[in-house]
Amino acid sequence: MNHWATLDHKYIMHPFTRYRRTLQNIPIIRGEGALLYAEDGTTYVDAIASWWVNLHGHAHPYINARIKEQLDVLEHVIFSGFTHQPAITLAEKLLRRLGFPYEQLFYSDNGSTAVEVAIKMSIQYWKNLGENRPRLIAFLNSYHGDTFGAMAVSERDVFTEPFHQHLFEVDYIPYPTPENIEEVKCNLEKLVSKGNVAAFIFEPLIQGAGGMRMAKPAWLDELLLICHRNQVLTIADEVMTGFFKTSTCFAIEQLNIKPDFVCLSKALTGGYLPLGVTAFTSSIARSFQSEDVRHTFYHGHSFTANPLACTAALASLELIDKENTASKVHQIAQWHEEAANSFTTHPVVRDVRSMGLVLAMDIQTSYDEYFYNDPIREILYREFLNRGVLVRPLGNVVYVLPPACITEQQMKSVYQTMHEVLEKINQSMHG
Ligand SMILES: *Cc1c(COP(=O)(O)O)cnc(C)c1O
Repeated sequence: MNHWATLDHKYIMHPFTRYRRTLQNIPIIRGEGALLYAEDGTTYVDAIASWWVNLHGHAHPYINARIKEQLDVLEHVIFSGFTHQPAITLAEKLLRRLGFPYEQLFYSDNGSTAVEVAIKMSIQYWKNLGENRPRLIAFLNSYHGDTFGAMAVSERDVFTEPFHQHLFEVDYIPYPTPENIEEVKCNLEKLVSKGNVAAFIFEPLIQGAGGMRMAKPAWLDELLLICHRNQVLTIADEVMTGFFKTSTCFAIEQLNIKPDFVCLSKALTGGYLPLGVTAFTSSIARSFQSEDVRHTFYHGHSFTANPLACTAALASLELIDKENTASKVHQIAQWHEEAANSFTTHPVVRDVRSMGLVLAMDIQTSYDEYFYNDPIREILYREFLNRGVLVRPLGNVVYVLPPACITEQQMKSVYQTMHEVLEKINQSMHG
């Protein structure tokens, strides 16, 4: 290994990475399509789109060219009192793609900040109207990011445990299932009828980090209807689901009742650069359009609407049409469905599910103690890497979420690797 790679361990703390003296992060030197090339010559299939961000493939020539062009013109400019074309064109195109009722958006830096903005705007919306509505409702098992507001509306678990005393109070309802939907509706009805709730935040159709749990659009519609009837604002956190994860470009396209806010990030720039968007309706926008200085939204980030990031997002939107990303995703969804059938009967597998780009399954947890010391996810992660596939299980949930550019051969080899790894787990438990 080169000298630079050995210094990683010395100088850098990595995200969600447990400390281990022997830890080696894999140095990647190049990417192309769905492939990542490591310094030691190993090639990995990026079967999780580098944490759900990559859409058209790594180092895509078209996005590269557009960014290079923009770079020579304007790299960045303050976004308060100033504006630029990439930001305006992107806003126009995104809002058109989102459709009614979204009329304005606010730029920020990433998924967590897109969520923070929606939370803050929803609380201030009511203040601007002269009402105090301090509470928020969220789903159990949700993940909305790692900043304080986003943590507050996420599941309270071991990941957020050190900060619980600093997080504002949130009312939680279970993620709907066929068994609990009536009960969830009742819970929600009771909470919203108190009149002190600013907003309900949710991940539409798929809870990502919470284990790729899937919900039917009809259940979410019923919950959104309860919110709307009780004048509670609704926030769709599409940071993960946006850009075809659920088969449609946005998950909310499959809902009849449209949320007041939509948060986007991750694949927004095709996975190139950090950028967050919070889109909202005209009635939200109007509540901030006032001569009263107290009605101003006092929020901003130094790199708000960075022109390079906006240009990457514009190029990605153009590729969605040019390369017919929707039909590629449709094809992948079909492969997933066929593959799902081949996993359902496997002895260590439970609850195989697929939607759009996502294929997920639970590895039977009753065997967890067998791997004491080494959680099953670590074993699975390493087994996949050893076979040249990047898959990062969420607890005992194994899933793939490839970039839309993945080839049939690459996808089928990933399924094959999944079979091999599951077989190895099965044998080590029974052998
Ligand atoms: C990843 C994610 C976030 C946080 O986005 P970051 O860019 O990592 O801050 C928020 N919400 C959901 C649903 C996510 O999957």
